[in-house]
Amino acid sequence: MTDPSERSDPADGERSLPGVGLVKGLAVTLKTMTRRSATQQYPDVAPALPPRSRGVIALLAENCTVCMLCARECPDWCIYIDSHKEEVVVPGAARARQRNVLDRFDIDFSLCMYCGICIEVCPFDALYWSPEFEYAEYDIKDLLHDKDHLGEWMGTVPPPPAHDPNGEPAKEETAAARKAAIPANPAERPAVTPPRSTERPAAAPARPAEQPPPRPGPRPAGDTATGEGPTP
Ligand code: SF4
Ligand code: SF4
Repeated sequence: MTDPSERSDPADGERSLPGVGLVKGLAVTLKTMTRRSATQQYPDVAPALPPRSRGVIALLAENCTVCMLCARECPDWCIYIDSHKEEVVVPGAARARQRNVLDRFDIDFSLCMYCGICIEVCPFDALYWSPEFEYAEYDIKDLLHDKDHLGEWMGTVPPPPAHDPNGEPAKEETAAARKAAIPANPAERPAVTPPRSTERPAAAPARPAEQPPPRPGPRPAGDTATGEGPTP
């Protein structure tokens, strides 16, 4: 059994003094009173959210090609898309083209878990995060936002952050600069080096097939594994 005197630590003597705990508590109170409050006075004061906050998903319907990638990848199956095909007559074209017309694009925010997969996979930049989060409803059915409602959130999407000044320029910028550097007059353009021939060199002559080593004949009488001759 442990001796109680062994369990005491050096602070025990200080704690045992009368009034020390009270003084310590008052010191903490005074220190906290002089600090600024960290409480955010929401909703009187809007919170300063980080630029990449995930509030609500906004839809830019003009960019949507009804490829269905977002609906297929959504782990909660809370994106509902309907569309129909429309013929577009192109002047000069042999036949009319077809294009998808978006009829319905709904997101059920009562199921959405804000994973952002739909925004990541959209190849046409039709979905965006908006930091708006004040869309609570009394009726859960009202959390199904349709195409028009999702489109209204586009006005709250923040502009993309500025490029890193030390980063590589965008491919589009590089291509545009290269194109602008080419003179309009064909005579002033630098000579274009002909592309390297893609023809393969003539095939090397076929190597003669390797002959298998001759099979050993029957071993003479008296021959042993040591290679010695017959015993006299
Ligand atoms: S954020 Fe995730 S759960 Fe919500 S709609 Fe997009 S893919 Fe579905
Ligand atoms: S992934 Fe983008 S383009 Fe494709 S259906 Fe979804 S929102 Fe439209």
